[in-house]
Amino acid sequence: MKVERVIKYEAELDKDFSQWVVSVPGGEQIRDCIQCGTCSATCPLSIYMDYTPRKIILMAHQGFKEEVLRSFTPWLCASCYACMVNCPREIKITEIMYILKEKAIEEGMYPKRFPIPVLAREFTRMIVKKGRNPETKLIIALALRTNPLNLLKMAPLGLRLMKAGRLEIMTKSIKGKDQLKTMLQSLEATT
Ligand code: SF4
Ligand code: SF4
Repeated sequence: MKVERVIKYEAELDKDFSQWVVSVPGGEQIRDCIQCGTCSATCPLSIYMDYTPRKIILMAHQGFKEEVLRSFTPWLCASCYACMVNCPREIKITEIMYILKEKAIEEGMYPKRFPIPVLAREFTRMIVKKGRNPETKLIIALALRTNPLNLLKMAPLGLRLMKAGRLEIMTKSIKGKDQLKTMLQSLEATT
């Protein structure tokens, strides 16, 4: 599914976004892209992407912020590194996909109701809050934010798993949550 918005004028491009991309480690290489298309040709998932890896690199460089961050492409990237291995300019395309995913979550611009970014955001939020992954809550949050009807379909299985003691409703926090918070903050500061 393509993003509907079409940029008609250069003035509409977000130059700050373009500058941000080239300022992050690895991102500066996108200036060297020759648009040969090798990455798109070698990517096993490009046929499912709304914009191919070649287009994403070009659009990120030119400042198509909204189109890039709302795109499904970074979320469909399987991190197989085929594009990176074959890129004649040794551009770290896979790493750029990671950077774009982080930015999309940070800016709340990921494709809505698409399970992969929702799962990544909820998982991170719960780890920060509890220090562990509360599976039941994660499944419920994912279903509510993507396809609530799935909850009804999954309910019988969920109940069987709960009876068997494989799913817990209550999640205990880890000890030393403050230390974890400090670690996560320092990690964020270094990235
Ligand atoms: S393979 Fe490398 S140089 Fe070629 S289009 Fe992709 S990113 Fe650009
Ligand atoms: S790393 Fe991602 S973008 Fe690159 S070839 Fe693999 S799936 Fe495609």
